[in-house]
Amino acid sequence: MKFIGAHVSIAGGIQNAPINAHRIGAKAFALFLKNQRQWQAKPLSEESIEGFNKNCGAFGFDKKYILPHASYLINLGSPEKEKLTKSREALIDELKRCRQLGLLRLNVHPGASLNRITTQDCLKRIAESINIALDRTEGVEVVLENTAGEGSVLGFRFEHLRTIIDRIEDKTRIGVCIDTCHLFAAGYDIRRYDGFCKTFEEFERIVGFSYLKGMHLNDSKTALGSRVDRHQSLGEGQIGIDAFRFIIKDKRFCNMPLILETPNPSKWPYEIGLLYSFLE
Ligand SMILES: [Zn+2]
Ligand SMILES: [Zn+2]
Repeated sequence: MKFIGAHVSIAGGIQNAPINAHRIGAKAFALFLKNQRQWQAKPLSEESIEGFNKNCGAFGFDKKYILPHASYLINLGSPEKEKLTKSREALIDELKRCRQLGLLRLNVHPGASLNRITTQDCLKRIAESINIALDRTEGVEVVLENTAGEGSVLGFRFEHLRTIIDRIEDKTRIGVCIDTCHLFAAGYDIRRYDGFCKTFEEFERIVGFSYLKGMHLNDSKTALGSRVDRHQSLGEGQIGIDAFRFIIKDKRFCNMPLILETPNPSKWPYEIGLLYSFLE
């Protein structure tokens, strides 16, 4: 089964996310667990937790196919001590929010070196941050997203994800999510079937499909290898629609959230319908 959805709004409270996902015909969704541009947030109220559970039940959303996205402020590899501490605390807070909502996984961006430490040192620091957070929380898995590699952001090579995973003490609580826009901007050419196969053979060899917990389905405004992260609606960017057909028809992407983060929410019902039509 394919579970396709989008990153929906939590305006008015987290309990509105399943309603918003239902409205666009989604079977999966992503959401933020608090305002993603602020460090501090009020704890989740009993009311919003209950409302979230009630609405997930009412619209038939299985928690396995809900993949929350952590705040963009978090830098688990920060060379600055204060920022690093703040980031680690924020990750722990978000993992606890997942636990409160009965969510199994949290999607995070690995981190950035700010060009002040080496790539290897930054990757080590990211793994250490995750180990600390896993140690101080229960149950919820950290899902690392591949990046476009803009600026000093790491995680744009499969090797980066592997280096982090190698250093995680509890391998049952680490996974990855592949964003197609980031993949393409990082230089992995998935436009044609041979390149798509080669890319995911490399993924299997270096990271492994056993770690794949979700996908972000986005076309890219920017060119192959541009290292610039600009999402585009499906079929309207530099990747084109074929890559998305390959994913939908491929069994390796079954039973995980497949999430649109495309820039035009009014197109989501159409994009979800289009993706499901590839199964026919
Ligand atoms: Zn992301
Ligand atoms: Zn993404």
